[in-house]
Amino acid sequence: SQIKQLMESLFSLSHRQASSLQPHSFHVDELQHAIKDKQMCLYLQPKVSLSTEEFVGAEFLIRWNHPDFGTLSPYYFIDLIEHSDLVHDFSIFVVNEAFEFIEQHFELLQDLAFNINLSVKNLEDLQLPERLADLANSYNVPPSMIVFEVTESLLIENLTQSLDVLLRLRLKGFSLAIDDFGTGYSSIKQLSQIPFCELKLDRCFIHDCAIDSDKQAIIEATVALAQKLNLKVVAEGIEQQQDLAFLNNYKIDYGQGYLFALPLEKVQFLKTLEQQSDYDQRKSRGRLRG
Ligand code: C2E
Ligand code: MG
Ligand code: MG
Ligand code: MG
Repeated sequence: SQIKQLMESLFSLSHRQASSLQPHSFHVDELQHAIKDKQMCLYLQPKVSLSTEEFVGAEFLIRWNHPDFGTLSPYYFIDLIEHSDLVHDFSIFVVNEAFEFIEQHFELLQDLAFNINLSVKNLEDLQLPERLADLANSYNVPPSMIVFEVTESLLIENLTQSLDVLLRLRLKGFSLAIDDFGTGYSSIKQLSQIPFCELKLDRCFIHDCAIDSDKQAIIEATVALAQKLNLKVVAEGIEQQQDLAFLNNYKIDYGQGYLFALPLEKVQFLKTLEQQSDYDQRKSRGRLRG
């Protein structure tokens, strides 16, 4: 097995270069090892209130600090994980890391909400709600601080089997979000069956929405639907000032995007947050205006 490992690493050195990596360049065994070896870590992308532009929370996003290739985005490996049984251990790892971070910095983070991505395949695991509730309990993380996200397109394909686990996650006190909304074909009936709290409008509708009337129609209809179903709306991937100005015409609660903040390393996220809360305190004491 040592020889096998040596051969594999020789293979990876001679046949793979960072510049030629593809979504399926890796082997499931490598990914499993990377998780065990803590080469994977979470970044955080702030979520802001669109009316005040203040941070209201963040989404945890996985990165792989690969020994040869540097920091890799999930583009290169998430598909592989989500199509293998590794997805169960992977998501437990992600939730563990996220909860541990929240517990360590609880003082600073307690008024925020944190989004964690789950894979639809995780919802096949009937033990999941219990396991996640136990984890939250052991890290002293109130479930009400946590929003679990699942991607619309994949969810709707497997709705019957997923519904039960989603309902029970909700009963445990976690919030639920439907991610990349608009990329699948959920019906109003399906949407109303799932106790979602948040609808995340996919970034393909946000980019250039200021100048694209088709996108405007989709945004308008989605916001109306979300209001009927009592869901908060998050606009994903806001990059341009003019798009933000357009989005402010609608009742969109939150935004995420490079215009506000990139996904940040934990330390950087904490720094950014501290800067804002200093600023807020000074502002509320009246020493700053505007
Ligand atoms: P997602 O959940 O929809 O996450 C949002 C993605 O959009 C992130 O990509 C984020 O970096 C990117 N993004 C944010 N703002 C902007 C912007 O203004 N412009 C553009 N062009 N992109 C923006 P990332 O981190 O590469 O993640 C890609 C996907 O991988 C995620 O999409 C999610 O589906 C999946 N993923 C990430 N972390 C996890 C995880 O811990 N578990 C699972 N199961 N999936 C994850
Ligand atoms: Mg997400
Ligand atoms: Mg997603
Ligand atoms: Mg998304």
